[in-house]
Amino acid sequence: MSRLQTADMKILVVEDEPLISSFIEKGLRAEGYAVETVDRGDKALERARLLDPDLVVLDIMLPGLDGFDVLGALRASDPELPVVMLTARSEIPDRVSGLDLGATDYMVKPFAFAELSARIRAHLRAAEARGQRADRLQASGLTLDLLRRDVESQRGGPVPLSAKEFALLAYFMRHPGQVLSRQQILDGVWGYAFDPRSNLVDVYIGYLRRKLAEAGARGAVETVRGMGYRLVQSRP
Ligand code: CA
Repeated sequence: MSRLQTADMKILVVEDEPLISSFIEKGLRAEGYAVETVDRGDKALERARLLDPDLVVLDIMLPGLDGFDVLGALRASDPELPVVMLTARSEIPDRVSGLDLGATDYMVKPFAFAELSARIRAHLRAAEARGQRADRLQASGLTLDLLRRDVESQRGGPVPLSAKEFALLAYFMRHPGQVLSRQQILDGVWGYAFDPRSNLVDVYIGYLRRKLAEAGARGAVETVRGMGYRLVQSRP
């Protein structure tokens, strides 16, 4: 099993009891996750929209909006987002309604941090595996479906691309974070010997960038001066 890259993972913790939220936050930070904490249900939805977390730890009894309402709203916008709910022992009957709304998992308070951490890891791995199906590429807030031949931007929805632009983006998405020279891109996308002085690559990168920017993914393809281009790995 591949090692989980916790440094790229963002977790939103929604908990109004300061002792519990700081205990979770410190523990997760120590494991390398990027963590944000909010103490109200209504703030949680706002933060989730801006942060685009990989997983949410969600208490049930919250001021503003309760955990079930938050869960329902999160699920409406992202059916696959892993959500681990926290519940007091006295609230255990609520687990049934939470399951109906599609919570991924439950922790009953008080719990050991190691247990929460192990479950978070498992859910993030499962989500990662779902995202890495062979016919789909994901990077930089973009999902490219090789069978349907379409591209979705997390921020802006579908990205309409020509066949060559699609091939160019697929090449970048197979090498996320790597600097690719013009020659590599020519060989990889156009597949035959081209005059390396041709500005074909730069022209097509210009087209691709314009369409990505229109779909909310401005900055996904970076210029690395004197070397080539690179697709940024996480959402720009
Ligand atoms: Ca609470």
